[in-house]
Amino acid sequence: MAAHDLGFDGVERRGLMFVLSSPSGAGKTTLSRLLIERMPGLRMSVSATTRPKRPGEVQGRDYLFLDKARFEAMVKRHELLEWAVVFDNHYGTPRAPVETALAAGQDVLFDIDWQGTQQLREKARADVVSVFILPPSAADLERRLHSRAQDSDAVIRGRMSRASHEMSHWAEYDYIVINRDVDQAFTEVQSILKAERLKRERRTGLTTFVRELQRQLQT
Ligand code: 5GP
Repeated sequence: MAAHDLGFDGVERRGLMFVLSSPSGAGKTTLSRLLIERMPGLRMSVSATTRPKRPGEVQGRDYLFLDKARFEAMVKRHELLEWAVVFDNHYGTPRAPVETALAAGQDVLFDIDWQGTQQLREKARADVVSVFILPPSAADLERRLHSRAQDSDAVIRGRMSRASHEMSHWAEYDYIVINRDVDQAFTEVQSILKAERLKRERRTGLTTFVRELQRQLQT
């Protein structure tokens, strides 16, 4: 059996869907990058979107940038696990890479909004672990949106006014992390993932493992 089929202690398990949501500017993108860099066995779900590419973004790495007709064709063919309209653009999660990863015992990280999280939860409650990231203050959120310097003032104003609405969904999430300090927030998110990997229900190889232990004890 390939190493990726196993949990890190050698017991086979099913992968989980690790969802991070937050208002934009709360540090979710940085936390996602750190998780992917530092947590083996976790891969990023690359969303499809109709929004224009920002400077520095790469087709196929950051998003699959599609026009509206191609996005709608994917919806029609049921190729998206969930999709939603966010800031007037369409965003959705391609289904096939996620299903392949989960079945192989790989975890998948999603940077999606509350609408997408609701849909994943309805479809696959047992596989979904959701974390909502909150900024420590409104001033901090505004500062981060400005320092990103990728969006126009009008876009930033729009995102600030949407932040409060997005935050109203915090209570639908399994875990809440307040991002006062990125290292601390990373440690917290990492702890959640590590603990969730050990959940009995995901560890499909446990029965065999314990049976083998018992057999050894009896001989
Ligand atoms: P941005 O345009 O700043 O990259 O993302 C805007 C918002 O869209 C973020 O809140 C992000 O989490 C959300 N988003 C990105 N991809 C998806 C997706 O596939 N599905 C859903 N529902 N939301 C997404």
